[in-house]
Amino acid sequence: MADKVQTLPYFFGNITREEAEEHLRHGGAGDGLYLLRQSRSYLGGYALSVSYGRQFCHYTIERDLNDTYAIAGGKSHRTPIDVIDYHSQESDGLICLLKKPFNRPRGIEPKVGPFEDLKEQLIRQYVKQTWNLQGSALEQAIISQRPQLEKLIATTAHEKMPWFHGKIDREDSELRLLRSPRTNGKFLIRERETNGRLVSYALCLLHSNQVMHYRIDKDKAGKLSIPDGKKFDTLWQLVEHYSYKPDGLIRVLTESCLRPSNSSERGATGGILSRIKSYSFPKPGPKKGLLQNPYNIDSNCREDLQGNIFHTEAMPMDTKVYESPYADPEELRSTTVNRSDLTLEDGELGSGNFGTVLKGIYQMKKTQKVVAVKILKNEDNNTAVKEEMLREASVMQQLDNPYIVRMIGICEAENLMLVMELAELGPLHKFLQKNKHISGKNITELVHQVSMGMKYLEEHNFVHRDLAARNVLLVTQHYAKISDFGLSKALTEDENYYKAKGHGKWPLKWYAPECMNYLKFSSKSDVWSFGVLMWEAYSFGQKPYKGMKGNEVIQMIENGERMTSPPDCPAEMYNLMKKCWTYKAEERPGFSVVEPRLRHYYYDISQ
Ligand code: ATP
Repeated sequence: MADKVQTLPYFFGNITREEAEEHLRHGGAGDGLYLLRQSRSYLGGYALSVSYGRQFCHYTIERDLNDTYAIAGGKSHRTPIDVIDYHSQESDGLICLLKKPFNRPRGIEPKVGPFEDLKEQLIRQYVKQTWNLQGSALEQAIISQRPQLEKLIATTAHEKMPWFHGKIDREDSELRLLRSPRTNGKFLIRERETNGRLVSYALCLLHSNQVMHYRIDKDKAGKLSIPDGKKFDTLWQLVEHYSYKPDGLIRVLTESCLRPSNSSERGATGGILSRIKSYSFPKPGPKKGLLQNPYNIDSNCREDLQGNIFHTEAMPMDTKVYESPYADPEELRSTTVNRSDLTLEDGELGSGNFGTVLKGIYQMKKTQKVVAVKILKNEDNNTAVKEEMLREASVMQQLDNPYIVRMIGICEAENLMLVMELAELGPLHKFLQKNKHISGKNITELVHQVSMGMKYLEEHNFVHRDLAARNVLLVTQHYAKISDFGLSKALTEDENYYKAKGHGKWPLKWYAPECMNYLKFSSKSDVWSFGVLMWEAYSFGQKPYKGMKGNEVIQMIENGERMTSPPDCPAEMYNLMKKCWTYKAEERPGFSVVEPRLRHYYYDISQ
């Protein structure tokens, strides 16, 4: 959404309401003249400024929990643009109908807020320090979790600000402010505690050689305000607001009282980054007892900077299977696993033609790892099945990406065993069948991760050939990995497709026309399958082409027909599925196109 709004000619970005009024005055201030700007108090929200008579009215467009937008108390709409369209027809509480947008004068771009400049740098440093990631693992973490990271940074960024002095008492704050120069409007923010618990903040402001202390309270929804004042999502928004308007304070804030450089208070030694080190999220895994479920979807509680526990979504980087098992060079990469290092547990994770998949513990050099072990049944000593499993292992061994189930090794013992990373929540389609409450945003997040894994395969010249929701396994509700490389092929540099020798036991409903007609498999045919996988995901694990036989499906595709949209599937996502089902492979987009499209849609709905 943010992208679309940014390009609106009447969007002015981070300007104040006074600046908005000035613009509207320049535009003639006719009744119903309006412009849109970024909310300076509501994270991810917008503000609509309208002129009427001699006055101007400003309405906050808030984003609510269902990812819809509304003017407080008003009707919800899918986008802020829809809110504007609606109020062009119905005043519905507004001072008048929205009649005419006031467009930015030539050469004026939407104004970028001071925080935007900092954000990028903070996100990068945050990911690096919290999860100790670098290189492509760091880049992928930022791409897949940007909306969550942005929110996290926005609510903790005040620690980076020079005016944030952390836990100091009233007297200390006065001493600091009364040091020269005693500029009127010099200010700082400190934390206030009762019985050792952070209860609120205080804004300390110098005026005429006196320090005023204003309490900043946090309400149940986490909004911050000076008693009876405007509410803000973050401290930096509050500071920004009172820097241009006293709004009840004795005067506006002018300059930051700088933290003493040798101060040991939180936030004072390097701001957010030093604090983040001690704030790093507890990595799930074998802390107390090794066998507790490390990826429990209910364990999404985190501690914020003040030690308050709050509920949040687990990020892929919080799990033990985000980073490569061989990221530590001392844990040597070897494709053989000694049976003595492997303990198998009772209870199947799943089963297939080859045998069963069990949970196990793999003793590595330094750590223990909870793993999934695919065990070949060897009753009939079928060499073909054995070879197939070894082929699968040899493909997996070459892949190393956070959105792909990585192979840890092969163990030849009482049975042939393939040891892999564990994705305990199992196949995507089954998970969605059982969890119909999962939000559309969550589904988009997972599908986007699959597209990231597929983009990696495409870049490395691998074709999967069995991409389907059943072969996407979930580590958590917010973390998907592609699995089952039994049919996959590595292409050589000069090949861009694999030619099968003949038809096999194929998942026809997931296959592109050229697979059936010419036995040709490429990343483009994986894109077709990905479209079917998207359809499965947005229909909560329904069977595609339900009730139809393979040849009926082929006929339907040849006739130019495609599956209809799953109920409640966003139009943007159904359009992308249809793009994936472009008949001619050469006209079909690759994952290098599909992934960014999903990414931008996901960022838009997560704003
Ligand atoms: P298919 O018939 O789809 O080709 P298959 O016989 O090759 O499947 P897999 O899909 O590899 O078998 O595994 C069967 C089941 O075992 C999966 O559906 C899943 O429930 C479980 N499973 C496989 N790998 C893992 C893993 N890494 N982590 C957790 N569970 C797994």
